[in-house]
Amino acid sequence: MTGISTGLSAGISAGTATPLIRVQDLRKVYRNGEQETVALAGVSTTIDAGEYVAIVGASGSGKSTFMTLIGLLDQASSGRYWLDGQDVTGLDVNTLAALRNRTLGFVFQSFHLLPRLNALDNVIVPLLYAGVPRDERRERAYAALQAVGLADRWQHLPSQLSGGQNQRVAIARAMVNSPRILLADEPTGALDSRTGRDILALFEQLQARGMTVILVTHDKSVAERAARQITFLDGQIIADSRSVAEVA
Ligand code: ADP
Ligand code: MG
Repeated sequence: MTGISTGLSAGISAGTATPLIRVQDLRKVYRNGEQETVALAGVSTTIDAGEYVAIVGASGSGKSTFMTLIGLLDQASSGRYWLDGQDVTGLDVNTLAALRNRTLGFVFQSFHLLPRLNALDNVIVPLLYAGVPRDERRERAYAALQAVGLADRWQHLPSQLSGGQNQRVAIARAMVNSPRILLADEPTGALDSRTGRDILALFEQLQARGMTVILVTHDKSVAERAARQITFLDGQIIADSRSVAEVA
């Protein structure tokens, strides 16, 4: 697989003590009619710039909800969230959208590509929101596809690509704005194990260039490649470990 080109490297904060992500007593209650589900029951943690963190835990333990809140895709019911030192609790929707577009890239299990757009146009989408001029959009999107080894497939529709190729398009889209944080929710869940390993290698290259990678996974072998594992159970963090080998 092709290496990540330097043009796509993520920003690194210069030696500040402020954690990139800090949440305090985050709670999320979903209400469907009469029914209430406590998805997060008070979560506090910090994640530093440049970390590679695996979020693990049983189905229904709150992992995706946590990612959704960290990713500014939804608001917590209570608790606070500081992103790079800025309190983002209660910011209005437009401010959140702009911050999200600038700071966060997302990769999902089911790719979430637009089926009628070719690979290049899918990667261009975040640049449209960011107001990047047309020629620069195409150049940057093409460079991102090159970085994930898919430049020769830029004209293909998602239906004309394999699962692993679609996930690489999704990663190119997630990186194209050079966000500081990559959030991936079961990114290898729909892929065969070899393709999954290629995708993980891509994340590891991104992290080596300074991107903070936070990845939800069911798969123990995937989690063990991360330097730190945070385990959820019933909406709470029950364990948080950095593997000895990675800390050294
Ligand atoms: P995980 O990703 O660990 O499987 P989730 O964060 O998706 O867990 O879900 C945590 C809990 O919240 C589960 O009980 C789930 O059913 C519930 N939940 C998630 N999303 C919603 C929603 N939009 N509406 C109602 N309940 C939800
Ligand atoms: Mg989930």
